[in-house]
Amino acid sequence: MKGFKSRDVTSLGHQIRGEVFTRGTHGYRREVSGFNLLTASSPDLVVVPEDEADVQAILRWAAEHDCTVHPQATGHGAYRPLEAGMLLKTTRLNRLAIDQEAQRFTVGAGLTWQDVVPELHAAGLMAVSGSAATVSVVGLLLGGGIGPLSRTLGVASDYAESFRVVNAAGEVLVADAEHHPDLFWALRGGKVGLGVVTEATVRAVPLSHVYGGGLFFGAEDMDRLAHAWLDWVTDLPDAVNSSIAFLRLPPEAPGPLGGATVLHLRFAYVDIEASHDELRDQGEAYLAPLRALGTPIIDTIGLLPGDRLAEIHADPTDPVPVWEWGDMLESADHDLIEHLVGQVGGKAQSVLTAVELRRLGGALVRDDLSPSAVGGTRAAFSLLVLGVAIKPVAPLVAVETAGHMIRDLVQPWSASEINYHWAGYPTPEVFINRLWPAETAERLSEVRSRYDPNRLFEFGN
Ligand SMILES: Cc1cc2nc3c(=O)[nH]c(=O)nc-3n(C[C@H](O)[C@H](O)[C@H](O)COP(=O)(O)OP(=O)(O)OC[C@H]3O[C@@H](n4cnc5c(N)ncnc54)[C@H](O)[C@@H]3O)c2cc1C
Repeated sequence: MKGFKSRDVTSLGHQIRGEVFTRGTHGYRREVSGFNLLTASSPDLVVVPEDEADVQAILRWAAEHDCTVHPQATGHGAYRPLEAGMLLKTTRLNRLAIDQEAQRFTVGAGLTWQDVVPELHAAGLMAVSGSAATVSVVGLLLGGGIGPLSRTLGVASDYAESFRVVNAAGEVLVADAEHHPDLFWALRGGKVGLGVVTEATVRAVPLSHVYGGGLFFGAEDMDRLAHAWLDWVTDLPDAVNSSIAFLRLPPEAPGPLGGATVLHLRFAYVDIEASHDELRDQGEAYLAPLRALGTPIIDTIGLLPGDRLAEIHADPTDPVPVWEWGDMLESADHDLIEHLVGQVGGKAQSVLTAVELRRLGGALVRDDLSPSAVGGTRAAFSLLVLGVAIKPVAPLVAVETAGHMIRDLVQPWSASEINYHWAGYPTPEVFINRLWPAETAERLSEVRSRYDPNRLFEFGN
């Protein structure tokens, strides 16, 4: 390890238009703090490139000084504190260009879905995104991106048409179906160790609205409704997307939700051809069996414009100290629901903030799309367990214990693969055995070693 001295860092600062921060310098704390307040990182350097040429200079400098590089946009995926190396913040790579006629957009690596979806909506287009609008577009694409419309429209990365990437040698590569097709395949789902993406070009969908939103049911109804949801969701057509979340909301949540224990049923009906009236009528027809079972405390379901898709899940947007664990499930049955009800249902005492069961299937298991490295999309359901760790109400150790209890209980339903975005910070065992089928994992490893032979982009496994 060559390492670097302060004069080397000064020299990096002179080579780029962007900024360099070292521990203790003004701005360093602001740049290292991300979405998850549990993760307190202290890398040797934080570098914020202003443009792609900066990224090239930064990576060449890092390679010369044996300094490992961790690209980051928002810190939504920062599950492990960085204690050394360089954090490369992409926040200033913020170009957005929409080609309305060709129904595609090009997005800089620093932009989040909430920067993009209003502009797309104004152009009569919608993107296939994840549930939260505060996640970066590129960060989501790299892991696949299973979102609130994915049963109908597939994963977000199915829509990626090309990436601009700076590799470990500091070269700019355009990866698409014709150029560097191995890298293009890997960037859609392979997630780590592949370079710094500076921009992605993504296909949009000619869609202005879906019929969707959420129903919040009170603690007295939630256990019964969870069982009924399972019966309802098992045979739904691919046009319907849904999940349930057992929620324990903070006192500052709005209106009747403040401090409440609720079941949040998320729903989205998608039909590209349908008029607004048809969307509403057909959407309500699908919902009718659930509506017949109880009266929600809050009902936000209606015609939903594409720039408000994040309201379906209503994920937190401000930074939180959150512990997270997730899995993909081969199937779900009433025994599984009974386990969840026992842990986080209406009568349970729990420190967990959210336990979400999401129906997958539909377009997620289509085989006619361009092959990519995305893993864990063939399961029937996903399960996500979140706990906001705040002393003294929910100390981290209590949150972890409650989360591990659910992990152990649902093990019999666990699928062989798990999507990267559900894995938290994957243990070496999960990284090697569960994120991708063996053949994909092997091919990914080979692509990574071709584009980053010296492992400049460290990913811990
Ligand atoms: C509230 C919430 C809701 C979520 N909902 C969903 C969901 O519905 N579906 C889903 O699939 N996921 C979901 N996720 C997971 C989320 O998509 C991942 O954590 C994703 O990695 C976040 O990307 P980011 O760039 O915003 O985060 P960051 O922490 O900035 O980045 C995460 C990782 O992505 C890589 N990365 C980011 N930018 C670049 C780049 N320019 N070049 C190379 N590598 C890069 C790096 O490996 C980095 O460590 C959710 C997360 C949260 C917190």
